Order: sequence, then structure tokens, then C-alpha cells
Amino acid sequence: MERYSPAMTLACWTKVTSDRKKSSSGGAFSVLARSVLSQNGVVFGATMSTDLKVYHIGIEQAEDLPRLQGSKYVQSYLGDTFVQVRNRLMAGRKVLFTGTPCQVGGLLTFLRKKYENLITCDMVCHGVPSQRAFDAFCERAHLNGTCDGISFRFTEGWGFQLARELKSPTRDGKFSFASAKRIPVCPSKAWYMRAFNKSLMFNETCYSCSYTQVERVSDFTMADYWGLGQKIPFNHPTYQGISMLLVNTPKAIEILKELPDLYYEERNLQEAIDGNYNLSHSSIRPDNRDEFIDDLLDMNQKDVVRKYGLQANARDYIRLLKQWWNSKR
Ligand SMILES: Cc1cc2nc3c(=O)[nH]c(=O)nc-3n(C[C@H](O)[C@H](O)[C@H](O)COP(=O)(O)OP(=O)(O)OC[C@H]3O[C@@H](n4cnc5c(N)ncnc54)[C@H](O)[C@@H]3O)c2cc1C
Repeated sequence: MERYSPAMTLACWTKVTSDRKKSSSGGAFSVLARSVLSQNGVVFGATMSTDLKVYHIGIEQAEDLPRLQGSKYVQSYLGDTFVQVRNRLMAGRKVLFTGTPCQVGGLLTFLRKKYENLITCDMVCHGVPSQRAFDAFCERAHLNGTCDGISFRFTEGWGFQLARELKSPTRDGKFSFASAKRIPVCPSKAWYMRAFNKSLMFNETCYSCSYTQVERVSDFTMADYWGLGQKIPFNHPTYQGISMLLVNTPKAIEILKELPDLYYEERNLQEAIDGNYNLSHSSIRPDNRDEFIDDLLDMNQKDVVRKYGLQANARDYIRLLKQWWNSKR
């Protein structure tokens, strides 16, 4: 499979403030998606259903964009998505496919030939826990039936990860992030993200992932811009979220010229590599990874949290307050 060395490294964000608020970082994804949708295209990405299952869907209307926005830190079920993508491509529609690098790699292998009307965008990926692991968390944290969805980050104030519950009326039986009433989850319930950050529950293949390298398979690669401004000054506030966007292919360079909603500044690739471990390495497999997965399925919440040091600390509560404050600015 062809790999591309990034041609440009951007620190960027969407100029559409409401999109930026719904995104995990700066909303680079939403800019690409809106551009494709405005050209009668189809955007494929991961959504979460009201029963807290993560899977890929294709959307054709901008009003459905919130269903794809925000990171879901669970392996997304693809079903027949690749067939749907191929059908749209063969019908001459423009398609944006977004997903983990291995999902993009899988799609390109499935398609077997290049399509000029296909744009791919992957992400720097820490690893994915299975739906089963996430189900076990939801059961332990008593989330089933109490909310219509989970946002894994308190996005209005960037730089800290926290689950929050979303209670909302459903539209056509589907969860709508746009209409959701957002309720921060108490940090004591957010231990899933702490286990995620410790790499305790990824699929086995994630620990030796062949896609975690600077040379990419996708046209674009998105991520949080960790490490931004640490060596070379960056003169903008970051609390609203900044995306790191790698522009990898000649096609991506052309598309970038047609994204008026994207504010960007070109940065140095080394800064992105230094700030984001998973841009060039797979996550390290902890020795107790298998034990954690067994315990997650068998133990109660209190015991899992205590055994693996996943308790919230005072800093988490202070950050929650700060994020709430930032969300008001
Ligand atoms: C499992 C996972 C691990 C990640 N690890 C890192 C990391 O180590 N370092 C880092 O800097 N960034 C990581 N990210 C990326 C980061 O969280 C943001 O998704 C990314 O920066 C895009 O943000 P955005 O503001 O442009 O758009 P957002 O609106 O926040 O992102 C939405 C996009 O993410 C895709 N997406 C969301 N959940 C999934 C999923 N489960 N599977 C496939 N695609 C999904 C959607 O299809 C859509 O394209 C990870 C994301 C995921 C889902």
C-alpha cells in the first residue's frame, strides 16, 4: 500500500464556532466534511447510537454532521460500509471516508483501485478498545438506559478528557448530538478514559500497529495538536481546541486551497512528532493488559478502579471547573 510523507503540517481550526465546540480538537474534520457535503458528496465516519454502540454511517446532509463529530474511543463497527463507499464512488459521487488508519487501509485494500473522487482522512490513533470493553464500562458505571449517548470529552474547554452524559429527545429514533442537553459526568465515572490513556484495553493488534508511522496511507491525518508552541511560539489561545492536520498527498494539497472555513498556520512536522507519541509509535502493551480485560468483565466498578489506580483526583475536579468556565467564554 502506498504511503505518503506529509507535505504540510498545519495547526488549524474551523472558523465555524459551533462546529469547533462540538469537535474533539479544532474541528478540522467538520471543515472537510462540510466541503464534501456542499458538493453533493457523502461523508462516512463513526457515530454512536442511543444504546451506546459505535458504528460507521454515511451522511449526505449537513444537519447530520453532529452525529459524526467528536471522538468515540471504541472500535467502530464497519458492517457493509466499504460496499456502500464503493457504490457511491462508482456512481460518481464525491466521498470522504474517515476512520482509524487501519480502517482506511482496509478500505483501500478492499477497493483495489484508485478513485479520483475518494478523499481519505485518518487520525493519529492511540488504539481502540472493543465494543465489549466499552459495554462492560457502561454496565459498571450504570450508564445504560440513563443517557442517550456519551461524549468522551468536555470539548468546550480543550485539553482534558472527561466523559459526559447527553440526555436528549431522539429524532427519528436516532440520537442527535445537536439537540443534546449536555451534562458533565462526575469525574469519578470517567475512569474509562483513564484506562484508555493507560493503554490498558486495546485490541491486541493495536500494540503492534503497522500504521503508527509518520508515512501515512490517507490524504489527510487529523489529531490533537499536543506539544504546539513548546519550542516555536504559537500566538493564539488554545483552550477552544486546535487540530493538527497533516496534508499528505497532492490531492490533499489541492483540496486545502478550497477550504475557506479552515484557519491554519503551517508548522514544523518535527513539532507534531515530538508532541504526539502515537504519530510514530504504537502504544506500549502493559503487562497487565489481559488481566485488566478479564477484571473489567468480572469485577465491580469500585474494585477495578481501585486495583488499576483509575480514581479521579482533585486535579480532575479542578479541570472540570476550568472547562465549565472556558465553555462560558
Ligand atoms: C480511537 C481514537 C484514538 C485517538 N487517538 C489519538 C491520539 O493518540 N492522539 C491524537 O492526537 N489524537 C487521537 N485521536 C484523534 C482525536 O481524538 C480527534 O478525533 C481528531 O483530532 C479529530 O478531531 P476534530 O476536532 O477534527 O474532529 P471531531 O469531530 O472531533 O472528530 C470526528 C471524526 O473522528 C472520527 N471518529 C470518531 N470516533 C471514531 C472511531 N471510534 N473510529 C473511527 N473514527 C472515529 C469520525 O468519523 C470523524 O471523522 C484519536 C481518535 C480516536 C477515535
